[in-house]
Amino acid sequence: MLDTPIEYLKGVGPQRAEVLKKELNIFTYRDLLFHYPFRYVDRTKFVLINQITEEMPYVQLRGVIEKLEVVGEKQSKRLSVLFRDNSGIIELVWFKGYNWMAAQLHMGVEYIVFGKATLFKNRYNIAHPEIEKMTPEILTQNSAFQSVYHSGEKLKYRGLDSEGIRKCMRALVSQLQPQHIPENLSQEVLADHKLISGFEAVKQIHFPESAAQLKQAENRIKFEELFYIQLRLLRLNKVRAHTIQGFVFPRVGKMFNNFFTAYLPFELTGAQKRVLKEIRIDMGSGRQMNRLMQGDVGSGKTLVALMSMLIALDNDFQSCIMAPTEILAQQHFVTFKEFLGQMDLNIAILTGSSTTKERKKIHAGLLDGSITILIGTHALIEDTVQFKNLGLVVIDEQHRFGVAQRAKLSAKNTQPPHILLMTATPIPRTLAMTLYGDLDTSIIDELPPGRKPIKTQHFLETKRLRMIGFLKEQIILGRQIYIVYPLIKESEKLDYQNLQAGYDNLLLEFPPPQYQISIVHGKLKHEQKDFEMQRFIKKETQIMVATTVIEVGVNIPNASVMVVESAERFGLSQLHQLRGRVGRGADQSYCILMTGYKLGADSRLRMETMERTNDGFEISEVDLKLRGPGDIEGTQQSGVMDLKLANLATDGQILQLARTTAQLILDEDHELLLEKNKVFQNHLQNQNKNRPNWSKVG
Ligand code: ADP
Ligand code: MG
Repeated sequence: MLDTPIEYLKGVGPQRAEVLKKELNIFTYRDLLFHYPFRYVDRTKFVLINQITEEMPYVQLRGVIEKLEVVGEKQSKRLSVLFRDNSGIIELVWFKGYNWMAAQLHMGVEYIVFGKATLFKNRYNIAHPEIEKMTPEILTQNSAFQSVYHSGEKLKYRGLDSEGIRKCMRALVSQLQPQHIPENLSQEVLADHKLISGFEAVKQIHFPESAAQLKQAENRIKFEELFYIQLRLLRLNKVRAHTIQGFVFPRVGKMFNNFFTAYLPFELTGAQKRVLKEIRIDMGSGRQMNRLMQGDVGSGKTLVALMSMLIALDNDFQSCIMAPTEILAQQHFVTFKEFLGQMDLNIAILTGSSTTKERKKIHAGLLDGSITILIGTHALIEDTVQFKNLGLVVIDEQHRFGVAQRAKLSAKNTQPPHILLMTATPIPRTLAMTLYGDLDTSIIDELPPGRKPIKTQHFLETKRLRMIGFLKEQIILGRQIYIVYPLIKESEKLDYQNLQAGYDNLLLEFPPPQYQISIVHGKLKHEQKDFEMQRFIKKETQIMVATTVIEVGVNIPNASVMVVESAERFGLSQLHQLRGRVGRGADQSYCILMTGYKLGADSRLRMETMERTNDGFEISEVDLKLRGPGDIEGTQQSGVMDLKLANLATDGQILQLARTTAQLILDEDHELLLEKNKVFQNHLQNQNKNRPNWSKVG
């Protein structure tokens, strides 16, 4: 029944079907059924007209029409209705479809009106409200939680406002039988977690009779959504473990030990030790490692990666590390050289700007095994890059790379090498579980000792002079400064003008030869960028003006001030990344967020959050709440976007329960062959069939 085309539903027909398809992607009964309400209103509670305030997101009134007329000329022609209750009068207006509307309405009949009241010329009115005749049924308990559906102008024009959609839904749900909604969870899972059946849940999500019913319907649906994502991810992990052989690195040998005892310039933090141990166990286990190492900027991930690469070397395997930008790759190369300086090791770097001659040499060295550690950018992926015996692949800032790129690196040995993914963009636990739920994860949640927390302050434009004064003080102390300008694709031209104007102003405030300023942005050639970077690194310049090119990974410990211009235009995680460029040395570091006066509520919260905390995970939680998962990097291709009801910002507990449940099931039966687990296997297969369809909806 659920596959029936939507036009056959009572009250729909061909014309309405057309808009349902176009506007809401509703083609069948099933599609309609899974068009969940986005809100519920209590239809038994009414506001008096004289008590309306602008803060109310919507109001529900009960009263009669006192006057009704089409007024105005041409563009401003509209239906104006004066609606009265015991306390006062309010105007209702329709700018579209007013003739039709006028014919529907009658004076002297009691109506319920629902909509957002806005103040216009000191009086409240409601534009395009929902309006329906008051009937005794409306006041029955069913109406305490009336569902509200997303609609739109074109749908409303065809009578499919929220109310119209609800009527169709009523027609559909009244025909619904248990056999139409096959149960997707096993009896065991339902019983263990006291979940209601899928059939009950869809009925109740549309027409709940009480708060408790609504809650249990939501719970059940959210659980199912999250459970299947987890089951798919954890299954992937299990399948990998059972089918892919990993290289076994049994030894921790000369290289690692020598480095650890003779060259490591400091104690490892507790977190570094713990993660290194997790990696060692993985690489010695016989299964292929697929591990994600999460850790805030500056938490020392690079060092952990390096030491893991030494273990590969101790077992006669080569390793490589891939970074998303040339600057970062260069920096890793320098860092590795410094750390491993006195050891007898052949490290090479390969990037887009390596010359043909260099490439030839590197290719040969990789093939004969004389190069043991390779650092680079996307250039590593190219087919011409072949290894003698690649055993470990490290991918830095992994969210910048696609799955396909990782897979290509993986294919550079007959048997897939161990893979260590790193990310300095902390993401909330719930999101990590959903995005990277198939990976094992390690978290570095401790910074090296002695770091002073960065002081962050939000400055309005009025304080620019004070900011400049502060920068001068810092320069006198010998510190260096980053000043970052936004560069957004859509407004690229204007942004470059701002950057240039900002730079010109700085030249006036910080005139040469006393002061020197570097400038780095995407329009510069690689050599120019490098030249400017080098001047800054060598302390020949005190200020580096840049776009977000410097966002990722740059490590210059003497730079201790980060100024972000037009900070309101950056997302929280980007601001946090930028701030992470300072606070890397022994000096107190500062981050100054410059914004204009007019800030929206979201921007203000972003600035406040930055001022309040340096904790990347905490910041990522706020970010998730503000933006929702859809805008966060990496979510687009994941199951996250299929979630209809579950919310990763608020449903952490259900998610954890879903994951644990999926894990227990797979621990016992990873191929889902047991009779009681057939239901899961079937549904996973169905989902796979339906997937292309879903992505169309998303
Ligand atoms: P990440 O890659 O996590 O952003 P890095 O590996 O670049 O961080 O480390 C930041 C800085 O901290 C580097 O200069 C590094 O040498 C230093 N560092 C790493 N581990 C320690 C440690 N245990 N103690 C002191 N300094 C450390
Ligand atoms: Mg790093």
